[in-house]
Amino acid sequence: MLFTRVCRLFPTMSVSLALPRRGVISSRMASDPSEITRFDFLVVGGGSGGLAGARRAAELGAATAVIESHKLGGTCVNVGCVPKKVMWNAAVHAEYLHDHGDYGFETGDVRFSWETLKAKRDAYVSHLNRIYRNNLDKAKIQTIQGYARFTNDPEPTVEVNGRKYTAPHILIATGGQPSVLSDAEVPGASLGITSDGFFELETLPKRSLVVGAGYIAVEMAGILSTLGSKTSLIIRQTGVLRNFDAFISANCTKELQNSGIDLWKNSQVKSVSKTDKGLEVTVVTKDPEKKNDEEKISTIQGVDCLLWAIGRQPNTAGLNIGEMGVDTDERGHIIVDEFQNTSRSGIYAVGDVCGRALLTPVAIAAGRKLAHRLFEGKKDSKLDYTCIPTVVFSHPPIGTVGLTEDEAIKTRGKENVKIYKTSFTPMYHAITSRKSQCIMKLVCVGKEEKVVGLHMQGLGCDEMLQGFAVAIKMGATKADFDKTVAIHPTSSEEFVTMR
Ligand SMILES: Cc1cc2nc3c(=O)[nH]c(=O)nc-3n(C[C@H](O)[C@H](O)[C@H](O)COP(=O)(O)OP(=O)(O)OC[C@H]3O[C@@H](n4cnc5c(N)ncnc54)[C@H](O)[C@@H]3O)c2cc1C
Repeated sequence: MLFTRVCRLFPTMSVSLALPRRGVISSRMASDPSEITRFDFLVVGGGSGGLAGARRAAELGAATAVIESHKLGGTCVNVGCVPKKVMWNAAVHAEYLHDHGDYGFETGDVRFSWETLKAKRDAYVSHLNRIYRNNLDKAKIQTIQGYARFTNDPEPTVEVNGRKYTAPHILIATGGQPSVLSDAEVPGASLGITSDGFFELETLPKRSLVVGAGYIAVEMAGILSTLGSKTSLIIRQTGVLRNFDAFISANCTKELQNSGIDLWKNSQVKSVSKTDKGLEVTVVTKDPEKKNDEEKISTIQGVDCLLWAIGRQPNTAGLNIGEMGVDTDERGHIIVDEFQNTSRSGIYAVGDVCGRALLTPVAIAAGRKLAHRLFEGKKDSKLDYTCIPTVVFSHPPIGTVGLTEDEAIKTRGKENVKIYKTSFTPMYHAITSRKSQCIMKLVCVGKEEKVVGLHMQGLGCDEMLQGFAVAIKMGATKADFDKTVAIHPTSSEEFVTMR
């Protein structure tokens, strides 16, 4: 049942307004700002999940509004996947430049302009922002610019710039932001930037120091180093990507070092200070395995880019959702059930704000599934969170889907798990002096050897994964892989010839 009535419209609103497909707008001039504007579907957050849910709901006839405090497109478009991939593409060019001589090209003196790249990248992102806005207008979705906060009204209500909005169905898709350390925790921490700040850098830093072991740290360190910044990566333990399969974690750690990144294991930043030669970063290193190992204190000088990539936190702090009866976990993520319902009826959440599988396609799929459930009567419409493929744009890239070997052993028992793996130098490197490895692993379970995990790092693995993810989602066995004729000469053929 659709509630298709927008009761109040305010003449001074800085919003675009278009008639919902179905529904009547009564556009009374309202002078009382406590009046409430009503929609069928109110979406807080115009990022991947919010926009996808809103557009699908509007297609299904719901009178929909999206509230966005910053730029449409959210993290992915503005400070995530999209500008990151542009930078990674640039870094891949830089890698291939090393191989040009081996492939017979004389390229001479090649210069790189960060400024040109940034200008083109920013223009592309702005173009996407405009496309998103046009798409909302075309779908007759109202865009409300401003920061939304729940009020204490008895009916779930959101306030933006002093105006109130409500709907029988409200979606929270407010995403997350980079975690930062306070100066009390690490003196001088605020002299550093986060991944958001990375996209504001006007020039290529000469000396970069990235802190963190997750995929964002790995990707940013890789981009900076490959484009020519002398880069150190500070990690607390001995390897990066510790929640990935151990094979991938170990190989990626090795590849980072092979590519010239100065890796500081068992290390943490103790303090940061500003000098006339740049930042001076004090690092403490201690191997917890060695009981008598003393702490080693070192300083890294002349740093012009200190980048904290130490995790992300959900954007829930300012929403006043606690008052609404929307439960969060200890880190502030909104707790939802498998249908994206929060603990308060009529309020839903999707995407990074829920803290599960922080990826754009996950937020999009969850938003769309929810719209079908709410506005098309598809009661069972929900996202299946198993077998979500992920790529890390490292050098070379990583592709992974399904269970790690450790997870398979834990859930299915060691005796039921069979592992196939291989490691080789891709043919591309047969004639190059620069080398990188390709590693591949299949995790199979049961007598039928069902493939429940596939993990790889190497040239082309980013584009290789999607097709294999389909096969695994369909329940492919090792025999199905073996029955498939190889494509030669490629790296991917190894997956169908493993013994
Ligand atoms: C550096 C980086 C690289 C990434 N690379 C990839 C990648 O390669 N592939 C991939 O799949 N994912 C990647 N991600 C993750 C991806 O960007 C997120 O998973 C995705 O954007 C989550 O979508 P969302 O809708 O949950 O939130 P977001 O896209 O973050 O959107 C939330 C929106 O809500 C708005 N908002 C917040 N609070 C309010 C409020 N109170 N009122 C109004 N508006 C509000 C925000 O301004 C934001 O626009 C990357 C992320 C980062 C940081």
